[in-house]
Amino acid sequence: MNRRRQTDRGDVRTPDACDPCGTLVTVKREILTVGHPLLRERAREVDPDELASKEIQALIDDLVDTMRAANGAGLAATQVGEMVRIAVIEVDHNPRYPYKPKIPLTVVINPVIEPLDGELVEINEGCLSVPNLRGNVMRHVNVRVRHLDREGTAHDDVRRGLTAGTFQHECDHLDGRLFLDRVEDTTTLATWEQFERFHRKAFVERITAFVERVGS
Ligand SMILES: [Zn+2]
Repeated sequence: MNRRRQTDRGDVRTPDACDPCGTLVTVKREILTVGHPLLRERAREVDPDELASKEIQALIDDLVDTMRAANGAGLAATQVGEMVRIAVIEVDHNPRYPYKPKIPLTVVINPVIEPLDGELVEINEGCLSVPNLRGNVMRHVNVRVRHLDREGTAHDDVRRGLTAGTFQHECDHLDGRLFLDRVEDTTTLATWEQFERFHRKAFVERITAFVERVGS
C-alpha cells in the first residue's frame, strides 16, 4: 500500500500523523519516523545572522503548519530532517492531549534547558515520530528555558509542569533523543487504542490533579 504520497502542491499526506484517528491528513513536510538516522543526530545551533534568511523563516512556517496539521503539541526541525536547533510548540484544545494546559505558539531557537530543582513527574507521552505508541517518562517539573524567537529576541522563562515536559520533549529531539529513550518501565508502552482502553482514565486523573497543583 502506498502509505505516503506527494500531493500536487508538494504537501505530504500521511496516515500516521493523525493518531489516534488514523485518517489521512495533509502536512507541509514529511515527518520522519523512528528508525530514520536523522532523528538520532544532534542539530546545530542557528547563527543569529541566519535567522532572517528566507530559508529559516520558511522552515519555521512549515514547522508550524505541519505541527498544526498533525495535531502535534510541538515539532522539532529534526523531525522533518532539518538539522538546526529550532522547534515550535503550541497547545490549544489538542485532541491528542486534551488534558494539556494551553501554550501559545512559541518558536524556540537554540534552546537551553536547565532544571531548577530535583522535582520530577511521570508523564505519559507520545510523539509524531513514533506512530501509535505512548509510554511513561520522567520529566523535570520546574525548568528554566532560554532561547531566541524567530525575530532573534532572547527569552528567559521558567516553565512548569506539563508545559515544562513539552519543552523538554522538543529539546530532546534537537539532541537526537526520543521519548522512547527515557521510558524506564517498558510495561507502560501502549498503542493509542490500548492507552484509551486501559490507562487513560487513571493517567488523566493523576495528571489533572498535578496540573492543578503546579498551575500548568
Ligand atoms: Zn516528539
